[in-house]
This record gives sequence, structure tokens and C-alpha cells, in this order.
Amino acid sequence: MKKPLIIIVLGKSGSGKGTQAELLKEKLGLDYIGSGDLLRARAKKKDFTGKEIAKILAAGALIPTPAIFKLWLDRVEELKTKKNFKGYVGDGNPRKILEAYLIDDALEFYGWKKNVKIILVDISDREAIWRLTRRRICKNCKKIIPFVGEFRKLKKCPKCGGELMQRSDDAIALVKNRLAWFKTDVQPIVNYYRKTGRLIKINGEQPIEDVFRDILKAVFI
Ligand SMILES: [Zn+2]
Repeated sequence: MKKPLIIIVLGKSGSGKGTQAELLKEKLGLDYIGSGDLLRARAKKKDFTGKEIAKILAAGALIPTPAIFKLWLDRVEELKTKKNFKGYVGDGNPRKILEAYLIDDALEFYGWKKNVKIILVDISDREAIWRLTRRRICKNCKKIIPFVGEFRKLKKCPKCGGELMQRSDDAIALVKNRLAWFKTDVQPIVNYYRKTGRLIKINGEQPIEDVFRDILKAVFI
């Protein structure tokens, strides 16, 4: 049997990694593990962990590793039993170096470590700031509309038709916070994958379809 294809997408806020993850999921028929989705779903349950996660999400802070990793692992368990599982694309995990180690161990445990591709959608800080201060969000379903390509022209949410607004959390100070967080927490992850010879760096400062083409090329080399 063919080994499942695991694609881990990394990138700064504004890099368009979420869009690329969605495209990969569609095009390759993969499952999707997005930490944002997992956390929002968990925050609906009003127990201790649900309430804590809701608080942390509202503050835009980082979720502690035990909480997010439990959710991630539950989702992986689900996929492990799925029929015709072809692989998954991961978006938003790992966010700390500890999580990168844990994911490595988990992929080994589940027998999925043979075909893992680590993609960094690379953009400069300047580009990230420019995009993030301009991107919009659907008032209704909270879908993020990136400030790139065709998305810039949208008047309504492509998913639900809802009204689009500028994100309140995209004030410049918060954008800078996120970039600082990328440097302290995510950069060590990038370095770790690079040192172990697994990092695939893709130029994220191109139109969406060109970024996607480069990713596909790199994945199927
Ligand atoms: Zn919407």
C-alpha cells in the first residue's frame, strides 16, 4: 500500500499558507488538520479546557502545547481509522519546537513518517505587514479573505455571501506581535526542519496559483 502523504505547511501570518493548505486538500484529496478549526470547535464545549481555550483565542495568545496536542492527536486517531486515507495537510501545527518533536514521534508511531513534506511559504516581514493590514474577514462565517490576487476584488464572502470587514485584530501593533512570535517560536521549528534536511522553502511573494504550482512541484519531485 502507498504511504499516506503528509504535508505540513508553515508560514507567517499573511503568507497565504491557509489558502495553500486548502488548495492542497482539494487538489490531492487529502484530509485537513487545522489548529484553528480544532480550537474553535473545542472552545464551544463549556468545560475547563473549553473555557480556557476560548479565553486564549479571544486574547490572540498561543495555546499551551498539552491542550492543542491532545486535539491534534484525537484528530489523527480519527484519520488513522478512516478508509482510503490518502494523507493530510496540516495547517497551524507545530507552533512550538516541542510540538515539532511530538509530531515527529507521532508520525513515526502511526507509520506515516515515510512521506512527509514540510513546506515553508516564505514572505518577508514587510510583505506580511502590508498584506495583514489590508486583509478582510467575513462578518458571518469568519472566513479570512487574504489581500492577494483575485481575493482583493471580492465584495462579498465567497463561502456564504456575508459582508466583509477589515479585521479589528489586524492593527499594526498586533501584526508586529505576530511577526515577533514567528521569530521566537516558529523560526526554531523552521531551523529544526532545515537542519534535518526536510525543509522545502517556497517563495510566497507570488500569485496564489504560482505558489501552488511551486508547492506541487516540490511535493512530487
Ligand atoms: Zn462568510
